[in-house]
Amino acid sequence: MSRILVVEDEPRIASFLQKGLRAEGHVTTVVDNGDDASALARSQDFDLVLLDVGLPGKDGFAVLADLRRRGERLPVILLTARDAVPDRVNGLDAGADDYVTKPFSFEELRARVRVRLRESSDDNPTTLAAGRVRLDLLSRTATVDGRTVELTAQEFLLAEVLLRHPQQVLSREHLLSHVWGYDYDPGSNIVDVYVGYLRRKLGKAVIETVRGVGYRLHG
Ligand code: CA
Repeated sequence: MSRILVVEDEPRIASFLQKGLRAEGHVTTVVDNGDDASALARSQDFDLVLLDVGLPGKDGFAVLADLRRRGERLPVILLTARDAVPDRVNGLDAGADDYVTKPFSFEELRARVRVRLRESSDDNPTTLAAGRVRLDLLSRTATVDGRTVELTAQEFLLAEVLLRHPQQVLSREHLLSHVWGYDYDPGSNIVDVYVGYLRRKLGKAVIETVRGVGYRLHG
């Protein structure tokens, strides 16, 4: 369990982050502007900050500069707009530890958060296994009965979400937001398409369709 400060002014993204991080067992505090972020980071202890760059009033860079000026080494992950390359460079120069480009999926963010928090605690598993399937989360490789299977980045993320919840029925919406992000069309059939790809690569019986609800992984 870590204490995470989320600084994001778009309510939809803030709530997406808060829900996902809470489900992971983290304690979150959400603020929607830079001044509150600076004040809170001064008065409370956090393990990590997720910091949007484009904020009303004082922007994310100013908040970051504030933190670093006070010698605060707390890990900061910037949330930057799509293709805002100068933002990333400026952010890393200003002392950010990492950045995630919007729109992002929860799994992408989770991977970054995990890396940053691992430096202080080492209780995150680096492999996941269910039945004949094993995923190595560091090398991003998958094996079935010890044989390596080539998965695309999205296939790997989908497999990762399913393996984190063996025997649980996961809804299409859950899988969409975790793998494809909050910006994805909820009417899309991309989840079904990718489940088909995974079945072909990992074995047909591995993923069960639960009609009208979603999918379940069999270990
Ligand atoms: Ca913003």
